[in-house]
Amino acid sequence: MISDKSTVLDELRRTIRDVNNFPKAGIVFKDVTPVLLDAKLFAEAINLMVDPYRDARITRVVAIESRGFLFGAPIALELGAGLVPIRKPGKLPAATQRVEYALEYGSDALEMHHDAVQPGDRVLVVDDVLATGGTANAAAQLVGGTGAAVAGFTFLIELDFLKGRQRLQGRRVEALLHYA
Ligand code: AMP
Repeated sequence: MISDKSTVLDELRRTIRDVNNFPKAGIVFKDVTPVLLDAKLFAEAINLMVDPYRDARITRVVAIESRGFLFGAPIALELGAGLVPIRKPGKLPAATQRVEYALEYGSDALEMHHDAVQPGDRVLVVDDVLATGGTANAAAQLVGGTGAAVAGFTFLIELDFLKGRQRLQGRRVEALLHYA
């Protein structure tokens, strides 16, 4: 694209908004919505999130509810891959597979349509933020259960101090911005 990578990363860092004590006391929430407001910056971010996987023969992009959808959809289009939403329980209409997981603030479960990913698929998992890695790990378990391969993960933001990467050991994990 037009701007060089470090310029885009600086601009992203300036644009992402910290919201203190959301959704509960002690959490500094990384609000990515200001990035979405800036069409050029959003496009640059998608481009950089896709770059490590351009030659990875990705056939499915798995996007995690809800902000993962916002990044997963354009990434899937850019890679020419199918888009698979992973959602909170009860949201997907057809038959699903389900996994329980823990996250930075509470615990939950995720579901994926049982026929959305097939053995032989090469899957890229997308979310906005990697925090403790519980959500991403759960997504990988869902994908792995189908017999497909998890080719890697791509995040806009990694909260390094929460050590989510350790939970994804042995996986390819890419993130544009790191917060120590
Ligand atoms: P985790 O399972 O702990 O890695 O949490 C990741 C999920 O929670 C992602 O879907 C994020 O969107 C969300 N999340 C966790 N912590 C934050 C944070 N500090 N700011 C924004 N989103 C977060």
